[in-house]
Amino acid sequence: MTEITFQYLVYIWIGIAAVIFPFLLRITAPYGRHAKSGWGPLINNRLAWFLMELPALLVFVFLAFNRGFNFDVVILIAILLWTFHYFHRVVIFPLRIRTKGKKMPVLIMIFALFFNLINGYINGYWFGYLSQGYPSDWMSDPRFVAGALLFVAGFIINLYHDRILISLRKEGNGYKIPFGGLFKYVSSPNFLGEMVEWGGYALLTWCLPTFSFFIWTLVNLLPRALDHHRWYLRKFKEYPVERKAVIPFFL
Ligand code: NDP
Repeated sequence: MTEITFQYLVYIWIGIAAVIFPFLLRITAPYGRHAKSGWGPLINNRLAWFLMELPALLVFVFLAFNRGFNFDVVILIAILLWTFHYFHRVVIFPLRIRTKGKKMPVLIMIFALFFNLINGYINGYWFGYLSQGYPSDWMSDPRFVAGALLFVAGFIINLYHDRILISLRKEGNGYKIPFGGLFKYVSSPNFLGEMVEWGGYALLTWCLPTFSFFIWTLVNLLPRALDHHRWYLRKFKEYPVERKAVIPFFL
């Protein structure tokens, strides 16, 4: 595929995200606390997470290593960061969650799997086939430095708050009000971390495919964070009113 064709396809992919966003603001994805009947057959929650995230790891790694190890150090860092994140999401996260007996609709799993397939393909194809690499001083460029810091900070924020949420399940399978860390300011700091992480990745790699993933992360997680926030306010009368949904003091 030529670079021009590829770029058109990525613009279309970003356009699809823009079209889907208003729908996601109205339709609550029925998994986790928002699970409800009427969405067809169900699948074990843990297995679904593994299956639906797997393509983002496998397809990306398969395509990205098309040139063997014959690429510059920035591309190698980009590939390693992606692989690191998705190894955690595919293997470790599903093993850690405490969602015994919970299921999610197969349809939701298929949507997510499709998203991860395309996203893994676009980014893997870019690094493995089309990217011309980076100038030798790119690692001292402010975009790389700030992007790398944001990626690491976002990953830690995501991991830390996911762990707080998972630990709430030590006793029983229900939901509790989470406290600690950035829960003081927002209901879904784990989503905030994920958005910061992929924003950082787009900055440090400075290319259209990773930017498209950042846009998709916002499109996926902003509506879900708003849904979670409204749900907490409905469910717990004593829920801290000063908390925002996902962006401290703002949203
Ligand atoms: P949630 O915050 O809804 O849940 C995370 C885990 O904690 C789940 O196992 C959930 O159980 C449990 N949990 C959440 N809140 C509570 C509570 N108040 N009390 C007890 N247990 C709780 O995150 P998601 O499941 O939607 O997403 C998981 C991860 O995947 C996140 O890190 C997210 O950032 C990432 N993600 C990334 C996307 C992207 O586009 N990059 C898209 C979607 C997710 P249960 O499932 O039973 O509710």
